[in-house]
Amino acid sequence: MISVSSLTTYLYCQRKAYLNYVLKIYGPGRKEVVSGKIKHAVIEYVNDDEKEIVESIDSASLEDIEIAYRSKYYKALGSILLKYRPDLERLNLKEQAMAEVWPVLLKEAKLRAKNVSEFISRHNVFGFALWEKLTPKYVSEVPVASFALGLNGKIDKVEMHSETSVLPFEMKSGKAPKSGIWDNHRVQLAAYIMLLKEKYADVNEGYVDYIDANEKRKVVLNPFIEDEVKKLIVKVNELKNSTTPPEKDKNPAKCVKCELREQCDALK
Ligand code: SF4
Repeated sequence: MISVSSLTTYLYCQRKAYLNYVLKIYGPGRKEVVSGKIKHAVIEYVNDDEKEIVESIDSASLEDIEIAYRSKYYKALGSILLKYRPDLERLNLKEQAMAEVWPVLLKEAKLRAKNVSEFISRHNVFGFALWEKLTPKYVSEVPVASFALGLNGKIDKVEMHSETSVLPFEMKSGKAPKSGIWDNHRVQLAAYIMLLKEKYADVNEGYVDYIDANEKRKVVLNPFIEDEVKKLIVKVNELKNSTTPPEKDKNPAKCVKCELREQCDALK
């Protein structure tokens, strides 16, 4: 079984995929990677406590609910920043991290608080019943796998509407394209939708959330993208069984910021 991230790495640079998935060489992580990991880690951390937050809400006031989410996120961010301290110091990112990550978490807190507040206004339920009935619910870091496709992965966030209907989101730090979606992001989300389809009947689209740009871009599954993903799975499996490293990528701009440049140069 291969991972969805191996598909996106292959699309980005085949030689990098060879270093990662054949030689098992991974870089120390660039600034964007570490900052993305922190954002994900905080959301995952607070997700575990979301039931507790929702059950503690005793008013439909959007402001009060936002405060409940914000204070939970703030505490979570503090402990995650401590965990990532060595990486942050190595990348000289300590001062920047809070300023970069906090607005993203505020946005997430607003989204979830609005969802809960509107639900209470419609149904007037609180406590355990509120958590039980709340729709949609947001679940992060959702593991998915398919033996038929030979593919697995973890989806950043899934909006759960019912037992059959879900909407996946991939959260991306860094620059968004002027229009559309970066190719590797499009393929990644399409692969996740295909994996979700094995479990949920009603899923055919999802969103790439360019969190720094505050832009959500839609991906709709169609037979052409499905075919593209399936062909890519075959190519990555071939690469994994190969003993010859692929040529260097033709775009030198990728190599300038690549954390595996040294190891790549050392290959034949
Ligand atoms: S240095 Fe360039 S060719 Fe080598 S792995 Fe990195 S991006 Fe690919």
